[in-house]
Amino acid sequence: MAKSIIEPRIKGFICTTAHPAGCATHVREQVAHVQGQKPIVGMHNVLVIGASTGYGLASRIAAAFGAHANTVGVYFERPSAGDRTASAGWYNTVAFNDELRRHCPGVKSININGDAFSDAIKAQTVAAVKKSLGTVDLVVYSLASPRRTHPKTGQVFHSVLKPTGKAFQGKTVNTDRGIVHEVTLDPATEEEIAATVAVMGGEDWELWIEALLAGGVLAPRARTVAYSYIGPELTWAIYKDGTIGRAKMDLDRAAQKIRKLLAPVQGQAFISVNKAVITQASSAIPVVPLYISLLFKIMKEARLHEGCIEQMCRLFSELYGEKATIDGEGRIRMDNLELREDVQAAVAAAWPMLTTENLHTATDYDAYIAGFLKLFGFGFSDIDYAQPVETELEISDENG
Ligand code: NAD
Repeated sequence: MAKSIIEPRIKGFICTTAHPAGCATHVREQVAHVQGQKPIVGMHNVLVIGASTGYGLASRIAAAFGAHANTVGVYFERPSAGDRTASAGWYNTVAFNDELRRHCPGVKSININGDAFSDAIKAQTVAAVKKSLGTVDLVVYSLASPRRTHPKTGQVFHSVLKPTGKAFQGKTVNTDRGIVHEVTLDPATEEEIAATVAVMGGEDWELWIEALLAGGVLAPRARTVAYSYIGPELTWAIYKDGTIGRAKMDLDRAAQKIRKLLAPVQGQAFISVNKAVITQASSAIPVVPLYISLLFKIMKEARLHEGCIEQMCRLFSELYGEKATIDGEGRIRMDNLELREDVQAAVAAAWPMLTTENLHTATDYDAYIAGFLKLFGFGFSDIDYAQPVETELEISDENG
């Protein structure tokens, strides 16, 4: 047992500490949101790959508390060690399981911590599904990672967040110092583009579906969904037309292939283009934190604001009931409100005016920083951060 007082320790766009009680509040807030929505009907056993933070965690919470679905969560998180706290995703998973026991006794959760890119974790997941659930009827693919060890060759790929073709020059915010400044980013090499596609593209999603099919653990008419982003033109140089955009393009290719793979079980594969939200992954992308700060102000004023949990409740209620918003290329467009003409006209008008001086008034920057800290369990009013808390918390492999 190890009790200590925990403070945020921020290094650039990551926080190296996490507060277990604060992470629990963050999870409870999301559970409460789901409980206030119409129940979702039709999800029974759901596998979420990347289930411990951001969109994957919200997907798991929406499935478990909104549909009383059994969930298998796969994630890569760090337990506490000595005076080092566990990672936020570890504490989120502890809290998810606690909340499930409290509100949904009998609903199962299976927790698998390890490298989702590896054959071993895929095999472990297949075996766990077979043993405890039989099959899964939804597979959510929500990984965001800076690196991938290829399971067949052992080659390690590192993703980069760079423009392609030509250098990018534009505005960004230094979140350590709250300073708006111009940044110049050189274009990625062909090798860097290929490495980013290897990490964040669709190959691993395909390998997951192949492994689940080969293991006989996909239910008839099973569905799978992977998350993508497009965003407005002002982020395209760094996102849609950048290295990460190339990887997202590869998801479209993978979706086509997976549709063929799933034909024998009459399954379906979707890409859901989600909106920009504050997560560990999005905070690492140049330009995006400043864009999110401005977008959130505009969407809140227009009463259109959504975070991870609002998006995932809406996605599942559309996928399992009301008609989903599908674009010409067959993608589900959860970014329809973000990309609404009036919202983006307001973004485009305000963007050139943004400076360090007006950052706190012209954008929702303070809420952005608060939202970032919340990802690690800091800044919740119900927590007395001066009190020591237990940092060594266990996650059992299976509950329910
Ligand atoms: P996140 O950083 O909050 O979550 C990443 C998840 O992946 C965590 O659960 C982490 O444990 C897991 N993970 C990372 N590497 C792993 C590995 N090797 N093995 C097992 N698990 C691993 O990220 P996020 O922002 O929620 O992103 C999830 C997906 O949503 C990504 O595809 C991202 O591109 C997409 N997306 C994000 C946004 C946004 O604004 N954040 C918008 C649209 C789409």
